[in-house]
Amino acid sequence: MKITKLAKGISLKRPLDGGNEEQLKVVRQVLADVRAQGDAAVRTYTEKWDGFVPNELRVAKEEIEAGANALDDQLYTDLKEAADNIRLYHEQQTRTGYRLDLANGSWLGQRITALDAVGLYVPGGTAAYPSSVLMNVIPAQVAGVKRIVITSPAGRDGHLPVGVLAAAHILGVEEVYKVGGAQAIGALAYGTETIAAVDKITGPGNIFVALAKREVFGEVAIDMIAGPSEIAVLADETAFADEVAADLLSQAEHDKLACVILVTTSEELAQKVAIEVEKQLASLPREEVARASVENFGAIYIAETMADAIDAINSLAPEHLEVVTKNAEAVAEQISHAGGIFIGRYSSEPVGDYFAGTNHVLPTNSTARFASGLNVDDFVKKSSIVYYSEKTWAENAPKIARLARMEGLEGHARAVESRGWEKE
Ligand code: NAD
Repeated sequence: MKITKLAKGISLKRPLDGGNEEQLKVVRQVLADVRAQGDAAVRTYTEKWDGFVPNELRVAKEEIEAGANALDDQLYTDLKEAADNIRLYHEQQTRTGYRLDLANGSWLGQRITALDAVGLYVPGGTAAYPSSVLMNVIPAQVAGVKRIVITSPAGRDGHLPVGVLAAAHILGVEEVYKVGGAQAIGALAYGTETIAAVDKITGPGNIFVALAKREVFGEVAIDMIAGPSEIAVLADETAFADEVAADLLSQAEHDKLACVILVTTSEELAQKVAIEVEKQLASLPREEVARASVENFGAIYIAETMADAIDAINSLAPEHLEVVTKNAEAVAEQISHAGGIFIGRYSSEPVGDYFAGTNHVLPTNSTARFASGLNVDDFVKKSSIVYYSEKTWAENAPKIARLARMEGLEGHARAVESRGWEKE
């Protein structure tokens, strides 16, 4: 990994990978076909890119159960414990609406209601992601969403990974489709004969999934455009190089475009981590992917002071940040832009990917400046409520009419003034 001295005030912002024209053209064609032809288009594209003929798009209940039974007992128990942790964490995020009582019997309020139907995209393709099932479904369940749909591409044998089926089984999700890519996003957004449309689509995926989500936004809601994974480690001389290197590689192995960065105040640690990364890469099963990520988007920066290092991290606004320093909790307090913060050497980032309870769907590409990780709020909406009594209306109608006329909206003024007269 290249080691660079960090210039004061440098911005480490990562450019957004928005895909290319060719990919966008493909995605638009897929979406148009799914909108016009429904299931037939979904089948055609599934055959083309996933390599099997999907006689049934929906996974049968028995198949979900069989998948759950096929999973190793210990893994099933581990998944269940992870699900419990994730549920407990997300239950803290629920909120109720409120009522603000005004004079003369009037009141204002806010009502929070869950979305009716959401579609959760679980990536498939090169790996299986049962953890993504937990991370998407549980906040939706905690919010009280009635219809939860999972869609994920099957392998060439036409089956979803047993881990994904087991996770769906543990959570009691019965509506599961073996559909991936842009065709899955189109089906969820527009609806087909088999797959009824949803109100919101969440979940990560490759560039075709990301572009499709961006295209359907407006007709349905989406959570975010998730880019390739990122990790930044903020460390001083108290960190262990082998642990830092292992944590950087944990994200590098996700994707050739994943971004792994160490910012440190210790030149010695920087040198040791660079050597450790090379050493550990050699025995990593996903070496090819991780090496490409490290070579393309890996960097080590040496900062003169911890304050400079913190500024650099805040400018990067990474998806994941580990703080491995003296007084790590106090240092972490000074971070305002990061999707997820992992404090101290025992909070290695995969702890949050799988188990601790926090959500692993987090904002990438420096969007942690303004965006949050997936949470219960993503699955609710808020209605404002007004109740004006006659007395409150009478007191305020002239003010409201004046404000409306200032904007040239006579109809608004008349509507407010039309009340209160003796009616026949
Ligand atoms: P995927 O499910 O996102 O994509 C597979 C689908 O892509 C296929 O079903 C196919 O329909 C479509 N596709 C493939 N090639 C195509 C082509 N040439 N033209 C049109 N469509 C095509 O699975 P993936 O590809 O393995 O990508 C998974 C992504 O999700 C990775 O980037 C990974 O890092 C990311 N991920 C992120 C998180 C997170 O929480 N941020 C978690 C898990 C995975």
